[in-house]
Amino acid sequence: MSNKVDVVVIGSGIGGLCCGALCARAGRDVLVLESHRQPGGAAHGFVRDGYCFESGPSLWSGLANWPSSNPLAQILRALGQPLPVVSYTDWDVLVPEGHLRIGVGSDDFEQMLLGLRGAEAVAEWRRFGEVLQPISAAAAALPLLSLRPGAEVLQQMWSRGRRLLPHLAAMRHLAGAFGPLVDRHLQDPFLRHWVDLLCFLISGMPMGDTNAAAMATLFAEWFDPGAQLDFPLGGSAAVVEALVNGLERYGGEVRCGSRVDQIKLDGDRAVGVVLRNGESIDANAVVSNTDVWSLLDLLPEASSPGWRRQQQQTPACRSFLHLHLGFDATGLNDLPIHTVWVGDWARGIDAERNALVISIPSVLDPAMAPPGHHVLHAYTPANEPWQPWQNLRPGSEPYELFKQQRCSVFWRVLEQRIPDLRDRCRVVMEGTPLTHRRFLNVHQGSYGPALSAANGLFPGGITPFAGLWMCGASTFPGIGIPPVAASGAMAAHAILGRKAQQDLLDQLAL
Ligand SMILES: Cc1cc2nc3c(=O)[nH]c(=O)nc-3n(C[C@H](O)[C@H](O)[C@H](O)COP(=O)(O)OP(=O)(O)OC[C@H]3O[C@@H](n4cnc5c(N)ncnc54)[C@H](O)[C@@H]3O)c2cc1C
Repeated sequence: MSNKVDVVVIGSGIGGLCCGALCARAGRDVLVLESHRQPGGAAHGFVRDGYCFESGPSLWSGLANWPSSNPLAQILRALGQPLPVVSYTDWDVLVPEGHLRIGVGSDDFEQMLLGLRGAEAVAEWRRFGEVLQPISAAAAALPLLSLRPGAEVLQQMWSRGRRLLPHLAAMRHLAGAFGPLVDRHLQDPFLRHWVDLLCFLISGMPMGDTNAAAMATLFAEWFDPGAQLDFPLGGSAAVVEALVNGLERYGGEVRCGSRVDQIKLDGDRAVGVVLRNGESIDANAVVSNTDVWSLLDLLPEASSPGWRRQQQQTPACRSFLHLHLGFDATGLNDLPIHTVWVGDWARGIDAERNALVISIPSVLDPAMAPPGHHVLHAYTPANEPWQPWQNLRPGSEPYELFKQQRCSVFWRVLEQRIPDLRDRCRVVMEGTPLTHRRFLNVHQGSYGPALSAANGLFPGGITPFAGLWMCGASTFPGIGIPPVAASGAMAAHAILGRKAQQDLLDQLAL
């Protein structure tokens, strides 16, 4: 490949890969530059001693069936990359109320609720579902792939014309927070905590700060009759592989181990990048899939000072503790793929080490671990503060002691279920916000910007520089796989123009 391409993408997170692949599909010469030795960012996988570990996402939906409202499913379809998945319907929840097996789909959830909280709570939940129905229908009528950064929202809505008319009343909720809807319609304490937990898992923030459109869409997917969750065979690495295949199928390239140190500017126009090894690559368009704080480090300090100051002030969600295990599964027959644990509702869903997500993907995909063994990834979802870690040196005694102390929460919860877990382990890796920052390459090991939906939407992917766009968890619509996939598509639309966008929507019948 020459040192000039049409589109250079900095970072191979799901957002960057979606953008790069759609640009390649439209005939552009695309190069994705990834700092890490594996593509995928938060979704990258790695193999150790025969165990296929995941580093991030574990909850997926909307991948098994078509049509799907999941932008990732839409993009994979456009790229001709089918993704084999296993569908399942329940997960374990360890909450102060007890050990629950909670099903997606309205029937299973209501049955559990009836036993736990009684008929009144079920009736309240049903009414809440009815309130959300028009909001999720409004969100579905305006697919994220139909939006383009920089273009007037009103103009874009107008172009969808009659399809939006029946949803005008519900549309006012789409840009706001979910909390006020919950406050108005849910009184049962368990249901309020449950919704707060779901919000926190989606956005890294409580319900008062989580976007209503995202939650209404999730409710439509998870609590409809016949709802299911989908686990991609091979885990998140298989999703990354499908996107890389889609990119390469159209002539694009992903280059790992290639850290970008600088975005080249010619006046107010981005014209390429310089890599850490000194290599310079020219491009007609540059897309940054880094987080917003890291993007600023790639631009000259004196460039666009007002925008820079504003971006620098973006508040960050907290970070993660991780536990990766490979263990002997002999006699462990009824393990769930996912367990969510909450210690004490009264501490708040975002309190430190008060919530855990535990994922054992080999329960559904045995090929992810050696025969008779399981692979496990547990994490504290965006509730670990960065500050106590920032001055510690990995490998030093204080770091190791602190890590042991903080990660003890995983063992305490897991040993309730598997008392001899430590004896069964063949691989044990504990990770801290410093590990998270190192391998996922995000500022302060953060989940992403902590931008409250009460104050509006995430910023779109435009920058003050011509030829430079952003995609990923720092941009609209926000954090999580479906949103970052959509943001990648939006950056591609900005580069490719309205006709290419319309062709894509027509092909997908959106
Ligand atoms: C532990 C965890 C669990 C999660 N669980 C879920 C879940 O269950 N469901 C869900 O929907 N979402 C989940 N998420 C969120 C979701 O995974 C992320 O929001 C999403 O993957 C982020 O994608 P992105 O496009 O923003 O890119 P990122 O994943 O942030 O990737 C950016 C890439 O850019 C690279 N990069 C950065 N700087 C440079 C540079 N200078 N040069 C070259 N490359 C660079 C990085 O190495 C990285 O690969 C989870 C996230 C985490 C961390």
